[in-house]
Amino acid sequence: MVFSSTLNNLLKNDSLRESQYRSIVCYHLIQIDCNMKDKLLFCLLVVGIIFQSNISAQPVENLFFITLDGLRWQELFSGADAMLITETEYVKDTQALKDQFWRITPEERRATLLPFFWNTIAQEGQIYGNRNLGNKMNCSNIFWFSYPGYAELLVGETNAKVIHSNEKVLNPDTTFLEYLNRSSSFKDQVASFCSWDVFPFIINEPRSNIPVNAGFEPVAGHDLNERESFLNLLQEEIPSPWSTVRLDAFTHHFAMEYVQKHHPRVLYLAYGETDDFAHDGRYDHYLSSAHRTDAWIYELWQMVQSDSFYRHKTAFVITTDHGRGRYEEGAWKSHGKTYEGSDAIWLAVLGPGIVGKGEVTEKQQLWQRQVAGTCLQILGLETWIKEDMGKAIDLTVKR
Ligand SMILES: [Zn+2]
Repeated sequence: MVFSSTLNNLLKNDSLRESQYRSIVCYHLIQIDCNMKDKLLFCLLVVGIIFQSNISAQPVENLFFITLDGLRWQELFSGADAMLITETEYVKDTQALKDQFWRITPEERRATLLPFFWNTIAQEGQIYGNRNLGNKMNCSNIFWFSYPGYAELLVGETNAKVIHSNEKVLNPDTTFLEYLNRSSSFKDQVASFCSWDVFPFIINEPRSNIPVNAGFEPVAGHDLNERESFLNLLQEEIPSPWSTVRLDAFTHHFAMEYVQKHHPRVLYLAYGETDDFAHDGRYDHYLSSAHRTDAWIYELWQMVQSDSFYRHKTAFVITTDHGRGRYEEGAWKSHGKTYEGSDAIWLAVLGPGIVGKGEVTEKQQLWQRQVAGTCLQILGLETWIKEDMGKAIDLTVKR
């Protein structure tokens, strides 16, 4: 009775991790009387069914690829910067910002700034790029700004001859998103929502046929719901601080509506505010934006877990296009070849089959060009990884 009620609870609570199933099931198997052979056989059968249907046995069928433009590894791994948070040049109300984001240890600070990263991904997924521990990830491209960074992430290699500026040049190279959208199994099931208006060129919307809602583009269609129509109206009426980047709230909520309506198997969600607030020299807005985006990604994750189309079959890959300079002489505001350290990036992954390594502490050097292949590998498409792409990162081995 105890065992069967536990099983019932297990079957009801499918958010339990495999290790929890294993330990509870083993415990109760030990409790079973050895003479109860039939019951034991039945129980083993049920256990088999549970293991077959549990989350890590499921292949990843869907991928949400997410970027936060120019979010530094320093804030991701150590939270608010001690020097920047007190600079009145960069922060309007230093006391209010300290109250919100300042804590004594880097571990407390980062969990305060980015709770989803440090309470969920750090438990169940993997986070790469903490240079303080010798785990390094860098751009391979020589530019350390946006278009070359996004091209490297999405294509899996660099192309300095063509992609050497942020100009609106159609990407001549094929992104992994386009490979997926061209395939029979993912055809017309890839979509993207991006704050920066250069993304239709990076993704090469006309050639790839991937719908790219970017910049100040409204969402279109005859079946817009009330929320989408209202977001379209607000997007016209709320001025963006920038001419080429919209506020991320529009990108996020447009994407949320689209995902719930159309259930794309692959979503690319490109947030942009962190970079622009940093360029503006507003450390307070930069931190608030990072904090808000973390909450949005959590919202998306919760939505995925509550939708049977996605639940236990969907992975999140989260990264950035470039880093930024250091505190000294305001270099944190900028990035590019002349700003030392702005090629330092990071990567976070979460989903079924991805071992919960948490913050990866191993000394290693990873590259931005490895992300495209890693995404294909997560989807079980290792054979699609082209020879000139960076090698996929092994997410399955617990070191
Ligand atoms: Zn950028």
